Amino acid sequence: MYRFFVLSCMALTAALSACSTTRQAAPDTTIKTSSVIAPDERKLASAGDDATPRLAGPHHLAGRTLEVSSLADLKLQDKEVILSFDDGPIPGRTDKVLAILDQFGVKGAFMMVGEMAEMHPALARKVAQDGNTIGSHTYDHANLSSLNFDAAMAEVIKGELAVTKATGTDVSFFRFPYLAESHRLRAAIAMRDMVVMDVDIDSKDYFTTTPVSITQRTMNLLHKRGCGIILMHDIHKRTATMLPTLLSKLEAEGYKVVTLKFKKTEVPNTVVASADFVTTR
Ligand SMILES: [Zn+2]
Repeated sequence: MYRFFVLSCMALTAALSACSTTRQAAPDTTIKTSSVIAPDERKLASAGDDATPRLAGPHHLAGRTLEVSSLADLKLQDKEVILSFDDGPIPGRTDKVLAILDQFGVKGAFMMVGEMAEMHPALARKVAQDGNTIGSHTYDHANLSSLNFDAAMAEVIKGELAVTKATGTDVSFFRFPYLAESHRLRAAIAMRDMVVMDVDIDSKDYFTTTPVSITQRTMNLLHKRGCGIILMHDIHKRTATMLPTLLSKLEAEGYKVVTLKFKKTEVPNTVVASADFVTTR
């Protein structure tokens, strides 16, 4: 199984996308206590600059909590998505994203840049305390493919430590900046008990396009795949602007937002993967 994952990134992506062939779902461990708001607590809430006011109430968008020990565990079922946000945290934007997620009763996976977390530790900690998944995205968003292996791992570790310190929580997920990866780095990162977060659906919210086009692109890709990890960036104003619309569409079409958690194992399979399949790429 790990040979498959380590040797073929493309095949890996395909495997992660095979919603109809994923394993039996874990019991629904979604935090239900916070997902239902009593009638007397219902209120009009708006978020984002052009967001449609939303009547807060029982949330239908929150899905299960998926505990993963390695990349092999990160399998989504049909109509399941993971909302991932890269490059933050940054005041005035990340906090807007947090507020919107809270209105919809869902969690995201925030892949923080180490130096951003260092600059904004209070916000980084709030992201974690809100129950979101915390990952790192190197220390200064370096393109790791432009560095030698040792320098690349130094970036990874420095970023991991910075995000750990700022958030006050373990950092168990990692995303490659620019998705510039190598088999050897993937294996080495797995050895550090971090799960590499791939991307199934790129919202392309980093382009200067309208929030509407970002939402349409994301939904179109999702319709083709059926499920997947959605890439967004909490550093862009347009992302928070379009997020209420995207989440409303997901909710209306019956999608569920999965919350990711890392579960440490006694004997990590990742050791086998890295020992057997490290390449010099
Ligand atoms: Zn990035």
